[in-house]
Amino acid sequence: MTTPQTPILNLASDNVSGMSQPVLAALIAANSGPEPAYGSDQWTARAEALLSEVFEHEVSVFLVATGTGANALALAAMSPPWGAIFCHSEAHVLDDECGAPEMFTDGAKLVGVPGVGGKLTVEALAPVVSHFAPGVIKSVQPAALSISQVTEAGTIYTIDEIKALGQFAKQRKLMFHLDGARFCNAMVTLGCTPAEMTWKSGVDIVTFGATKNGCMACEAIIFFNKTDAESMPFRRKRGGHTVSKGRLLGAQMVGYLENDHWIDNARHANAMATALRQGLETIPGVKLPWPTHANEVFVVVPQSAAERLTRNKIRAAPWDSVSLPAGFSIGKDEQFLRFVTSFTTTKTDIATVLQTITG
Ligand SMILES: *Cc1c(COP(=O)(O)O)cnc(C)c1O
Repeated sequence: MTTPQTPILNLASDNVSGMSQPVLAALIAANSGPEPAYGSDQWTARAEALLSEVFEHEVSVFLVATGTGANALALAAMSPPWGAIFCHSEAHVLDDECGAPEMFTDGAKLVGVPGVGGKLTVEALAPVVSHFAPGVIKSVQPAALSISQVTEAGTIYTIDEIKALGQFAKQRKLMFHLDGARFCNAMVTLGCTPAEMTWKSGVDIVTFGATKNGCMACEAIIFFNKTDAESMPFRRKRGGHTVSKGRLLGAQMVGYLENDHWIDNARHANAMATALRQGLETIPGVKLPWPTHANEVFVVVPQSAAERLTRNKIRAAPWDSVSLPAGFSIGKDEQFLRFVTSFTTTKTDIATVLQTITG
C-alpha cells in the first residue's frame, strides 16, 4: 500500500481528518453478523434513541452520508417548489451545494440576505421577506428560514439571537432550519443543551453534522414534529440517500454520541482554535476580521507569511467573503486564509503554524 503525498499539516478544513477511534470501533463492532438493511437495524435504532435522549425530545431521525444531502432533503420537506427559502448570502446551502437544494425542492428559490460575519438578523431579513407577498401569485411564497450554526464565518448565534429569528419565522409562517454541520462546536462554546439551541428556540428541523467532528460520513436530518417528517422516507429513497447497509451510518452515530465523545472532540477542536487565535493576535501585521467562536480561524496575513506556509507544506484554505466588517480591507500584499481545527489537531501543530507565520 502506498501513502499519497500530503502536506505535513493540513488545516484547510475539519474534513481532512479521518474518523476518531470510538467511531471506528463502533463501525468494526457493527461489521459482523447480518443486520436488516435500509436502516431497520439495531444500530440505527440505537442512534435514534440516543438522539431523542440528547435532544430531550422525541425526534424523527433520518441518517444520510453527506451534509449537502441532509440540507437539500431537509429544505425540500420545508418548502413547496414555488417557495422562497431565506438564508445568508454566503450560506452553504446557497453557495456550496451545486444547486442541490434547488433540485431537491423541485425549484424553490433560495434568497440570500447579507450580514456581517455570516450572521442573519431580523432587521436585515424583515424587508427581504416582505418583498415576497403571501398570496400574490406572481411571487414565490415565503416558506423557510435557514441559518448555519456555526456560520460560514466561524461565528455563532447566541441563544437569544436564535430565539429572535425563531419568533420572526413563526410570525411570518416560515419553517425554521438550522444547518448544524458544526453543531457541537457551537454548542460547547455556548455551554447550552442541544434542546436550548434548537426546538426550545423555535427551530423546526436540524441537519445535525457528525462527519466533520469525528465520523466518516454521517449526518442526521432531525425533525421535532413527526408530521413534518411524513414525506422524508420517500424523499430520502428517491433522492438516492437511503443507504443499503444502513447499520454503517447508525454505528457511526452511536460511536459519536456515546460517552459524550462528540463533546470531547468539539471541546478539543475549539480549544486548538482558541490557542491559534490567541497566538495570531500577538503577531504584528496579522488581521482578524471576526471573533473566533468555535473551531475556525479567519485571518489576513502578509503575503510573505502565506508563502512561508506554502513552502513549509502547511495548508490553510484561501478565503474570500462579502461579509467582512465595515472598513475591513485586504491589501494586495496580503492573503485571507481560513484555518479549521479538529479532534486531530495538536498543540504542536498550532505552535508550528504560529512560528511559520511569525517567520
Ligand atoms: C461542511 C458543511 C456542510 C456539509 O457539507 P458536505 O460536504 O456536503 O458534507 C453543510 N453546511 C456547512 C455550513 C458546512 O460547513
